[in-house]
Amino acid sequence: MTDDCSRMRKQEGGAAGMAGRVYEHRGFMLDVSRHYMPAEEIRRLLDAAKILGLNRMHWHLTDDQGWRMEIRSYPNLTETGSVRGRSYFGGTPGEERNDGFYSQQEIRDIVAYAGSLGIEVIPEIELPGHAAAMLAAYPELSCRRGEAGRWENRVEISGGIFPALVCAGKDEALALIRNVLDEVTELFPFPAVHIGGDEAVKLRWRRCPDCQARMRKLGLASEDALQRWLMLEIGAYLAEKGRRTIVWGDALAGGPLPDHFIVQQWMEGEENTRAFMAGGGQVIRSDTDYFYLDYSYGQIDVRKIWEMPGIPDYAAGYEDRLLGMECPLWTERIAGLDRAAFQLFPRLAAAALRMREPEMPWEDFRARVAELTAEVERKTGLKGAPEALWALSPAEAEKVLAAERERTRLPETAPVPGEGTLFLLDEAERLALRLGIPRAFALKAGDSVLAGLSGQAAPEGDSGAGILMRQLMQAAESRLWGAWKRIPEEIWIETMKAFPRFISEHRRSYGYDGFDRAGWTVRQAGARIFRIGELEYELAETEARKREIGVHIPSDARLEPERLNDSLTRADAFLREFFPEWAGLPKTCESWLLSPVLKEWLPPDSRILRFQEAFDLLENLPDNDAALEWVFHVAEGQRAGLALAALPEDTSLQKNMKALLLSGGKPGAAYGVLARPFR
Ligand SMILES: [Zn+2]
Repeated sequence: MTDDCSRMRKQEGGAAGMAGRVYEHRGFMLDVSRHYMPAEEIRRLLDAAKILGLNRMHWHLTDDQGWRMEIRSYPNLTETGSVRGRSYFGGTPGEERNDGFYSQQEIRDIVAYAGSLGIEVIPEIELPGHAAAMLAAYPELSCRRGEAGRWENRVEISGGIFPALVCAGKDEALALIRNVLDEVTELFPFPAVHIGGDEAVKLRWRRCPDCQARMRKLGLASEDALQRWLMLEIGAYLAEKGRRTIVWGDALAGGPLPDHFIVQQWMEGEENTRAFMAGGGQVIRSDTDYFYLDYSYGQIDVRKIWEMPGIPDYAAGYEDRLLGMECPLWTERIAGLDRAAFQLFPRLAAAALRMREPEMPWEDFRARVAELTAEVERKTGLKGAPEALWALSPAEAEKVLAAERERTRLPETAPVPGEGTLFLLDEAERLALRLGIPRAFALKAGDSVLAGLSGQAAPEGDSGAGILMRQLMQAAESRLWGAWKRIPEEIWIETMKAFPRFISEHRRSYGYDGFDRAGWTVRQAGARIFRIGELEYELAETEARKREIGVHIPSDARLEPERLNDSLTRADAFLREFFPEWAGLPKTCESWLLSPVLKEWLPPDSRILRFQEAFDLLENLPDNDAALEWVFHVAEGQRAGLALAALPEDTSLQKNMKALLLSGGKPGAAYGVLARPFR
């Protein structure tokens, strides 16, 4: 989107048109799974919420680290699922056990108390991911039964993303969900139920015979589509009870959802949320940048909340479908009410005020937030963060953030995996399948990484699978947060297709799937090589620190002048837009296809010779290996002990090349600089 366009949107749909709007949804979310909070403390938070003019509490009752709601028909959900041993979140005392759950009577009382304050309570039962505590209680409802080691079904003891997913292929699992929701809807009168849907890594679903059978039966093309199916099933069940369904924005990844769903937008996938709104869907705003109150004041201070756009870009033009905002308080690193209050106030007051009064000048805003925060402290005893943290300079913010990182740092000895690794592995597997890498090999590659994460050795006969998946993870990470993020989708996918091409070349050479081109694809994964049309372009710095654009000829390139020139034109435009400091640098090519020896052997109208003509040759480079590979399809691993006399002579090129090799000649590659258009 251009700057002009974004400015226009803000004017049209932004603050000006919405001043004084009282949103229907003004809420906060409390995560009681990571840290249980006694009912009495929740009442105090509700008292504070009333002072701030909020009308919704979203109660995140279940997650990997604890199931906190009594369910009569499945008592083990709390007997097993609400109990965990020592935990390792960082920033919280690891020795505390933090067990506990809410009885159905306690829940009724809290809902009634909130109601007396004009606050409605929205229950969340998280599905299909963040379900480790549920599956610890009922492991027969997970994809794998009795799996040993790190990925067993257990109440998790650290933050992060875990592979435990409710099995979408087992009817008993769906029955449990429906029965749980029967009890949930009995206790919570709110006309919608939140069923989560975020961060569901599909590692197990891809490997589960039951889930795969369900996908085949329903004709679903991907595991994301399977999640969409599950969400639709549960949504339909809730609709029968007259309830709507709220999901986190991630749930749109498998395709559109009908508008009896409500989407809570928090991170990425904004284009999906925008499309959902375009179709009439309603959205709650919880963007991490402004509303995540477990984040440090170094990331989100009061001033930043004041500065936020009145309408987020994804909602521009659909302002009437924005239900309002909600501030989540995730509690991995928040143990106890004091810390919760420090994180919530004054920022919860600021977010509520900002949504109501988008035009208020900063000094007035700050004064009003101070009044509200003082009132909260006076009436509830809950003490927020000091004013020194409300409007930090960049340097101060950096300091506060560094101190927070220090406070929440996990000890080296903590027996838990790095956060985010499984998320990236899931992204990389999804990418592998999208690129057409054979499914069995892609899953073998994922298994290899999983084994490493569990501290096991890579499986025997890995055939480079583990290396492949680590590179795809690097590529996926770069696409999400790094150098690839801003590159157009088409170039991203075209470039990544080098991976399946190399796997299929490996198969042609050896007769089985494998990957042995890590030296090459590491540059693709790191956004140094781009496939644009027929050719690849590399941002290359030679030994003499000279920058040049290296032109590569992929094995599937079609050397037709029109296509090649089109590729050059597009490459120049691409470089100008995304790497202007590289635009206009010489384009060079080092290839066996530029070898002068080919002039003697190929007919004058050969495409290869016409390709050569576009280059001024600078240097010959002895290279028999490329000749063997290009002309005889002999891969690196097949060269040891190769009998030249046994090479085929099916074409004149092969005949000539074989004779040259037998006479001890070096066919050579060549290095040239692109000097003219292709003809
Ligand atoms: Zn399954």
